[in-house]
Amino acid sequence: MGNKPISLNAPMNQQLNDDIHIFLRERGADLIGIASVNAWNHDGRVSEAYRPAFLWPLTRSVIVIGMQMPLPVVETTPSVQHRDLYNTCNRNLDGLAFDLSRWLNRRGQASIPLSRDGYAAINVLIDYPRVAFAHNDAAYYAGLGHIGINNTILTREFGPRVRFVSVFTAADLPAGRPTENLCIRCGACVEFCPVNALKLSKRELRDRNAVVADYDRHACALWARAMTQRGCYPCGICTKVCPVGEDRTLYGREKTLGHYRKELSSPVRDAPDPLHRSWNHIRRRGSRLIGDNVPSDTTINTIFQAIRQEILGRE
Ligand code: SF4
Ligand code: SF4
Repeated sequence: MGNKPISLNAPMNQQLNDDIHIFLRERGADLIGIASVNAWNHDGRVSEAYRPAFLWPLTRSVIVIGMQMPLPVVETTPSVQHRDLYNTCNRNLDGLAFDLSRWLNRRGQASIPLSRDGYAAINVLIDYPRVAFAHNDAAYYAGLGHIGINNTILTREFGPRVRFVSVFTAADLPAGRPTENLCIRCGACVEFCPVNALKLSKRELRDRNAVVADYDRHACALWARAMTQRGCYPCGICTKVCPVGEDRTLYGREKTLGHYRKELSSPVRDAPDPLHRSWNHIRRRGSRLIGDNVPSDTTINTIFQAIRQEILGRE
């Protein structure tokens, strides 16, 4: 534990805050934010059992770490490349949260990491579609982004293509504040969800009081299980199609909704568009989403429809 005694009551510490940022930046964090434990209580949106103060009463600040999911890989979803990226991102986030917690403990600031995903298997999520702590809430209170219609945190840098993990600490750190909502209410996430898990009418889309779509966690989890069985979990189509994020400029992928729409009805074998062809090549290797001997007129839409049928038949 080092030489310093564990501190449960340190005053707000700007130097410690700066050191935390340096520690995390040097180890690969793309986004870093701090949320005060009071933010959950003041807002009151999250029920008590899911708040940091309930989960670990010593918590005074929540340190939130974000890592990007590069857009061109997300665009191949559902694919094993997307699955591998997702797992790597989760592993790195968990490692970084663990390392930061131990580093803070050695400096006398009692801290614990909360794991990235927090569920044992997709079947558990189907039965109990909620985890003990939502990192998205922490990212929102820390001011890293705002929740969008697709029920994810939209950030200026990466839109929703970023994953978060949290460290609870007894240190009192300068906290951020919730930011403006970047969601442009285009409705793409609702339109492209393969199981209609995001429900929002056109009228509701125009009503700015409706901040998130009605999210059917069960349908989303059933789809996730179907993708897991094919080796290409998670889905993430609602993060792929979201037009928000500076990463779109980096990769030259602005205004892509028409391209995504065309993808759905293009043949998975020898699609005329080079990007669609490349994504389908990736999907056909290493996962079982697209069989080797599919008829030449098979499209991603056809495959999704068949899986939807399978899910409905089973449930
Ligand atoms: S992850 Fe997939 S199934 Fe779930 S809400 Fe997003 S698009 Fe729909
Ligand atoms: S896809 Fe459009 S409606 Fe959905 S979260 Fe992104 S900006 Fe908002």
